[in-house]
Amino acid sequence: MKTLFVTSERDPRETRVAVIPSDVQKLSKIGWSVNVESGAGIKAGFPDEDYAAAGASIVGADFAKEADFVAAVRKPAPEFVKSLKRGAFYLSLLDPFNEKELIKTFAEAGVTAASFEMIPRSTIAQKMDVLSSQSNLAGYVSVLKAANTLKKILPMMMTPAGTISPLKFFVVGVGVAGLQAIATAKRLGARVDAFDTRPVVEEQVKSLGAKFVKIDLGETGQTAQGYAKELTPEQIEMQRRGMAKVCAQSDVIITTAKLFGRKAPRIITAEMVAGMKPGSVIVDMAVESGGNVEGSKPDETVITPNGVTIIGDTCLEASVPSTASQMYSSNVFNYIAHFSADGEFKPNFEDQIMKMSAITHDGKISDERFM
Ligand code: NAD
Repeated sequence: MKTLFVTSERDPRETRVAVIPSDVQKLSKIGWSVNVESGAGIKAGFPDEDYAAAGASIVGADFAKEADFVAAVRKPAPEFVKSLKRGAFYLSLLDPFNEKELIKTFAEAGVTAASFEMIPRSTIAQKMDVLSSQSNLAGYVSVLKAANTLKKILPMMMTPAGTISPLKFFVVGVGVAGLQAIATAKRLGARVDAFDTRPVVEEQVKSLGAKFVKIDLGETGQTAQGYAKELTPEQIEMQRRGMAKVCAQSDVIITTAKLFGRKAPRIITAEMVAGMKPGSVIVDMAVESGGNVEGSKPDETVITPNGVTIIGDTCLEASVPSTASQMYSSNVFNYIAHFSADGEFKPNFEDQIMKMSAITHDGKISDERFM
């Protein structure tokens, strides 16, 4: 039997937990003994009693040194890594492009560190894809945050007291988060325009009842993993010119444009924000990796001199922690189950999922981008 440790999150802003009680039962069935740090699930609505009823042991933080496998949501402190036993396996979001010292600590401690960001975007790995499961919820929350900040309602209403026009949303970047933002804004009755540099997205935008804004940028495209290719500075300028009019007419702009492992493109300039109507709202979902919007600040809400609110929440999904933990926990369970057989954890380092996600193993770092 293998020993799993589910930690409490150390970042006070974090509300999610890596494993929820219903997955404790599923893990027990495939031969795992699950140990949950006391209080780990409380912010997400899962008290210790629910974990105990599902068959978990409630333990203290020092259980780390006994665990074969540790599951968390966010990256750990270096001291925590040093407290793990050699040969242990650690799984969470690790932000490996920006956490080279931490990755080195994992390698030196002889701990296998698996990074959820590095799971391949293949059909078989979809059920372990934390970036997708969490971005989907973040896209949903982005629309609700904007709706709560606006001074107007979203849908059209024809009443004896007059007709109210529907609000206009503009979604820039239509990956997982952008698609969910479009669907949510449409459900609330808004009109939605959208743009992405990947031409394949146009059909998906139309199928949700939104309008695709056409801007000719010359050659764009996507990588083998489905991520956008970086635009040239000239293309970014063309994009800004092509978008300026739509931005000025929009009540809400939601930007989700990211470049995997690199700084996000700066698409919306201060001048474009100044051209928006007072009371408009922008949600910059790329704020943590540099921001798509000039003037956005991580975890701050900025109000510009012309009355535009720019929301820079870096973890929108953390405001729906119960659902977000349910999805995250399912991703963790599927990862563990994929490599479990006969009550044992058998990581196969030839398997593409393990090869890409395990960024340290046997004291070595797998990829020079993390060194
Ligand atoms: P992401 O978070 O990296 O980026 C969000 C969106 O921003 C992308 O659609 C990207 O094209 C777009 N973008 C980048 N630069 C831009 C710019 N200058 N202007 C406008 N838009 C810009 O992307 P994501 O949500 O992680 O998804 C990327 C792709 O991977 C999508 O095609 C998605 O369907 C695919 N995907 C596949 C799987 C799978 O097969 N398992 C899982 C998840 C996602």
